[in-house]
Amino acid sequence: MLHLDNPDVLSATGPSRYRRAFERGYRGLRFERPLERDFRRFNDSMNLMRVRWATYLAFALFGAFVVIDLATLPADVARWTAGIRLGLIMPAFAIVLLTSHSFVWRRYLQRSIFVASLITGLGTVAVVGAALLRGYALPYEGLLLVVLFIYLIACLSWWRALIVNITTLIAFVAMEFALQPDPQARLYQIIFMCTANAVGAYGGYFIEYGSRTAFLMQGMLNDLAERDSMTGLYNRRVLNSHLDRTWRQASREGAELAVAMIDVDQFKRYNDRYGHAQGDTALRAVAGVIAQQARRPMDLAARYGGEEFALIWYRMQAEDLPALGEQLREAVEALAVEHAGSSHRVLTVSVGIALMAPAAFQSSADLLRAADNALYQAKQDGRNRVKLLVHPKLSDIVA
Ligand code: GH3
Ligand code: MG
Ligand code: MG
Repeated sequence: MLHLDNPDVLSATGPSRYRRAFERGYRGLRFERPLERDFRRFNDSMNLMRVRWATYLAFALFGAFVVIDLATLPADVARWTAGIRLGLIMPAFAIVLLTSHSFVWRRYLQRSIFVASLITGLGTVAVVGAALLRGYALPYEGLLLVVLFIYLIACLSWWRALIVNITTLIAFVAMEFALQPDPQARLYQIIFMCTANAVGAYGGYFIEYGSRTAFLMQGMLNDLAERDSMTGLYNRRVLNSHLDRTWRQASREGAELAVAMIDVDQFKRYNDRYGHAQGDTALRAVAGVIAQQARRPMDLAARYGGEEFALIWYRMQAEDLPALGEQLREAVEALAVEHAGSSHRVLTVSVGIALMAPAAFQSSADLLRAADNALYQAKQDGRNRVKLLVHPKLSDIVA
């Protein structure tokens, strides 16, 4: 899984956003903005089947209650209780089911579960109330099940489940005070409702906490497999597979593809003079500059190895290349990292860029090779410069 839509997924030099969220903690069951959105998407897609099965289960339970109501309650009571279940609550389940099955509406899944849960909670209070109003003490225990169902099974986010259940609790207490003639029964029922809320909220909290942990773990594992740990850029394996993919896509779309190879100048001397640790710091700074050059969704910045980096620019136009290459070179120079062993006095890079329109007799490896040859020429020409090979000749590729 590539996170190409956001080149800043990993600040080029720091730990990944997953790791940062993990270290910051999420006891409030909330991540920061873009990560929270991604978690909800991840969670909803993980829970899709569970939501459907939960809804079928809810249908079956309420269907059974309707049958029992009609079979055992006095007709005027049953008319109301079955009416609320069939006319109000079960249509809300149907909406959840529709939402979960529709690609277009799926982003409203949480909202539809929220509304359906609210309708179920308040509707069930109304069922008990309607029976009490007619002098019939319907067992209220079904409401305890509803509370637990919403916390533990409905796949509603914990905060939303809390809002629904507290609202239901308030409605229940109000209804009990208005309609329950037996103060002893009222006291016990309210205590049990509060207890069900405490138990459900406790369990639901840890379910969501666990989902958030799984989400972060998956993200961190991905980073481990795809990222270079020192710079945070993508590693060479991802570079190669992404280059392959964009090559094929460019070939289909008749687009042009550019690869830049970037090599730090006189870096061995830098290490020798300033030490390896400071060399690492300098490489991270250069990586940060390079990461900023991969701005569009299909672009990618990678560490090729050692002090060499690579950039893929998708759908690149030849006339934009000189300025882009120069911008990159200047940005590294502008870091003004002192390098006394270099004739430029600061740390610089040489850049080789090749641009090709994929053709049947060529491969993405040819593009990489051409960029490497361009880099070699940039070094030959005196370093700290950009060499372009636009639509390279065969000799530029094999050389
Ligand atoms: P040129 O301008 O021709 O590229 O010269 P150069 O010295 O940069 O090239 P050379 O290939 O001779 O040396 C590359 C140096 O990069 C040697 C190696 O120690 C250093 N290097 C590679 N990876 C790392 C790293 O992760 N950290 C540090 N500090 N140095 C590294
Ligand atoms: Mg090198
Ligand atoms: Mg070098």
